[in-house]
Amino acid sequence: MRFWIGNGINKNKQMVEHLQHYGVISSMKVAEVMETIDRALFVPDGASAYVDSPMAIGYNATISAPHMHATCLQLLEQNLQPGMHALDVGSGTGYLTACFAIMVGPQGRAVGVEHIPELVASSIKNIEKSTAAPLLKEGSLSVHAGDGRQGWPECAPYDAIHVGAAAPEIPQALLDQLKPGGRMVIPVGNMFQDLKVVDKNMDGSISIRSETSVRYVPLTSRDAQLRGY
Ligand code: SAH
Repeated sequence: MRFWIGNGINKNKQMVEHLQHYGVISSMKVAEVMETIDRALFVPDGASAYVDSPMAIGYNATISAPHMHATCLQLLEQNLQPGMHALDVGSGTGYLTACFAIMVGPQGRAVGVEHIPELVASSIKNIEKSTAAPLLKEGSLSVHAGDGRQGWPECAPYDAIHVGAAAPEIPQALLDQLKPGGRMVIPVGNMFQDLKVVDKNMDGSISIRSETSVRYVPLTSRDAQLRGY
């Protein structure tokens, strides 16, 4: 599903206003961060950056639609406060990693993990052009090549974990790296997927609910992805 088709929509701010109008964004902080990070810097050259649709970015990967980015930021907002730690698994273009970095600020930590090294390299170039560039330079924002199913133990535990690809089941390493009080947003399933909201309670127990039906590319091995799954 999509909320608008982008006719005449050519500005990042208007995209954010649409998302507010349709009720996808209710938080001022989420609106601000999506206004600050220009989506056009993260989509392939010439592509219509502000259309509410996922877009191919090569290597059988896609950049998620604006309403999915907004939904995930809304769900994670309380866990992206200044000073907190955030992990973005399958960081792709780096768009959401950059948004996380702005939200947690220079005292926080935003980490992207992506298993296609070429996408890691281009995401770093994208971020360098964005308002998140100083955070990358100072080191509170980083993007790494690796298998995101293993998380990124170095900066764990995380207040927020976002997974941008659909997992057949929730990887244990990601549950382990979630802080008590932390929240993970992860699409789970194969053909049919639900966006799951996974909360780790203060006693370490886990609560899971389904937010909505979604369609993401699979969280898989690099070989399987490059073969076309
Ligand atoms: N959220 C990103 C990308 C979404 S596409 C964006 O909006 O730009 C999902 C990404 O997950 C792809 O870039 C894909 O290469 C990556 N991916 C899939 N399986 C992975 C794995 N096991 N480890 C790390 N990254 C993975």
